[in-house]
Amino acid sequence: MSTTPFSDVRVRFAPSPTGPMHIGGARTALFNWLFARHNGGKFILRIEDTDQKRFDPNALDQITGALRWLGLDWDEGPEVGGPYGPYVQSERLDLYHQWANWLLEHDKAYKCFCTPERLEQVNKEKEARKEPPGYDRHCRYLSRDEVAQNEAEGKSYIVRFKMPLEGETTVYDLIRGDVTFDNSTLQDLVLLKSDGYPTYHLANVVDDHLMHITHILRANEWLSSAPLHYQLYQAFGWPMPAIAHLPVLLNPNGKGKLSKRSTGFTEGGQKVLVLVKEFQEAGYLPEAVVNFLTNVGWSFGDEREVFTVEESIERFDITKVQAANSAFPMEKLDWLNGVYIREKLSPEELAARLKPVLERHGLTVDDDLLRHVVPLVQIRLKSPEDIVELAGFFFRDDFTPAPPQELIQKKMDAAQTRAALERTYEKLAAMDEFEHDRMDAELRPLAEELGLSAGQLFGALRVAITAQAVATPLFETMMILGKETTLARIKQAIDSLNILVNEA
Ligand code: GLU
Repeated sequence: MSTTPFSDVRVRFAPSPTGPMHIGGARTALFNWLFARHNGGKFILRIEDTDQKRFDPNALDQITGALRWLGLDWDEGPEVGGPYGPYVQSERLDLYHQWANWLLEHDKAYKCFCTPERLEQVNKEKEARKEPPGYDRHCRYLSRDEVAQNEAEGKSYIVRFKMPLEGETTVYDLIRGDVTFDNSTLQDLVLLKSDGYPTYHLANVVDDHLMHITHILRANEWLSSAPLHYQLYQAFGWPMPAIAHLPVLLNPNGKGKLSKRSTGFTEGGQKVLVLVKEFQEAGYLPEAVVNFLTNVGWSFGDEREVFTVEESIERFDITKVQAANSAFPMEKLDWLNGVYIREKLSPEELAARLKPVLERHGLTVDDDLLRHVVPLVQIRLKSPEDIVELAGFFFRDDFTPAPPQELIQKKMDAAQTRAALERTYEKLAAMDEFEHDRMDAELRPLAEELGLSAGQLFGALRVAITAQAVATPLFETMMILGKETTLARIKQAIDSLNILVNEA
């Protein structure tokens, strides 16, 4: 089979708007996008909404939102337009009718008047004979008179394609090489349904041709449609675009296709997410998700796990995509996400990502304060969500002190803790410059003087000023909170310890 005569690469991502975007769909979109960008071609978004029963009115926004979040911009399609629009199939029905009629007129398709009841009966009989299900081509052999009679009676019909009955169909797949199908196994596929809508097959082929698509990159589950589409192209006398079927994503344990049912926990306690919005909500950075997906089914090479989008655009080679379906290594994404947060984002970029997370948790974010907090958390975050636990206290309007028992560190008692905090209060209060090195110079010797380890003293102090055992670095935290707030909180802690000391 020859490839297309079009010299400029034009690929499309053609989702059906049946629900929120799946991570597997995002990977298909990404590989198309990388291929287009690598070749200086066009990436087209086409919405295949011919299945009215499964249509979800929210899906288009979710698809475009997911693509935008991932940074996969489209050159033609909904919202941006383009020379071969409209890019939504339900707005192109006339075209499909026109081309279905063309096939009818050229005796390459036929009207099928069989009722659903008859089709069911045929399948039942086939099942009894242990034959694979499928249409028995009854209407393919109706005489002209019989067709005319059915039409005169106003019987409803669908249009079916006259598939070749013998021989073989070989499709050249850019990843898999030649794939051969026995024509006797192919069905007379439905082109137009009784509701007047085309099937996926007709609309997909007509649109790929009319939109001058040069390469079709789609999920492996469509491989069995390839010979059907090949025969349709042949019937129309159109060149078929080059085609590649991408490996499907499997569950992290390699068992079974990653699907909506995979959401939650699989074996090994690995949390599996499936929808793009779940990744977004869980705090994964789009850069990390894109980096991760690029390396599932294709390999950047040189054993490199971290690379930029620009680097992958430069290297991406569709013929090197693996044929075998790929397990989805979620734990690698967790690791990558941490790498991106800690090493790839500037403090300003990170601040911009953290702000909505804090706000989502009901915290009020002062930009200036956040700017000071970011350097303290950047190397400690695995996910943007971690900021809430680690440093959310900076953004809470009301400070709720920790219960006094929590102030008491290992091998200490209430009286000792209170005394330590009192001495710390005095030292800090006497400081004219409330600054890191001064604190260090004063408080370390103080710990020694009190017969405590630095960990004990700083632990008590940390709980006093943050109400947390784990938080941002102590001295920097006190500097950000300021002298007044720090002292007030230590005072509060001392007061709360009074009760315990008196009880003892
Ligand atoms: N509408 C199909 C889907 O949602 C597109 C398949 C193709 O790319 O041909 O998967």
